[in-house]
Amino acid sequence: MNEFDLLVDLHKYNLRQGPGSHEVTKKAIEHTGLMGQKNLEIADIGCGTGGQTLDLARFLDGKITAVDLFPDFLDVLSVQAAERGLNNRITPIEASMENLPLEDHVFDLIWSEGAIYIMGFEIGIRHWKRHLKSGGILAVSDITWITDSRPRELEQFWKRECPEISTVSSKLEVLKKQGYEILSHFILPEDCWIDHYYLPLQESYQSFLERQEHSQEAMDIIASDKAEFEMYMKYSSYYSYGFYIARVP
Ligand code: SAH
Repeated sequence: MNEFDLLVDLHKYNLRQGPGSHEVTKKAIEHTGLMGQKNLEIADIGCGTGGQTLDLARFLDGKITAVDLFPDFLDVLSVQAAERGLNNRITPIEASMENLPLEDHVFDLIWSEGAIYIMGFEIGIRHWKRHLKSGGILAVSDITWITDSRPRELEQFWKRECPEISTVSSKLEVLKKQGYEILSHFILPEDCWIDHYYLPLQESYQSFLERQEHSQEAMDIIASDKAEFEMYMKYSSYYSYGFYIARVP
């Protein structure tokens, strides 16, 4: 198994593959101003197993195209959508966020939680903009510094993992530079990281290691996960995810 296969095997039994929560998704949906509108065209990029996709379907009317690179995640989403009678509204698509097989100027809303860092915040918001209608809305969560300065150890760790980590004001500047109007933004609370992400993930370590017969590669993944968790426990007052909601004029 390569590293991606291992990561998918570790994460696919969880509701989320990154920090977030139902409450935060709902709050961000409210901030789009789209609740109550009919027949929306929505894309959820880097949807994972679809924790937030199901919330989008619950709170908004219309169709959702859910894109992820890994079919195992999309399979979980399909089963969950079918169980809720939502598979006529959610279409899973296996594709890369860097080359979306989506039409231009058709979406009312492009959503992406905890995934845009993979292609880079600025490149992502620039590339995805063409798929939005005029007046269409982008809602993305991305890792963000929440203080003006921070310990060197922490800065080095996150610059290596996510080179575009920056402050709220820098993220907003990038959005404006790429031609978006800012509608709203807020910082995710700690429960999004601990209760809804790290703890469920840690509960899945044992069965993951058993499936992988305690291979060195599997243990390396757990070790790097634990290092990230320890960094969070030590320095959570310096960073979180920011949710950014912006509109194409
Ligand atoms: N939105 C989900 C998952 C976030 S984790 C949540 O918040 O729970 C990031 C997701 O991006 C993973 O599901 C991963 O499979 C997906 N991903 C990674 N590289 C990708 C790419 N190039 N294109 C599309 N999705 C990708």
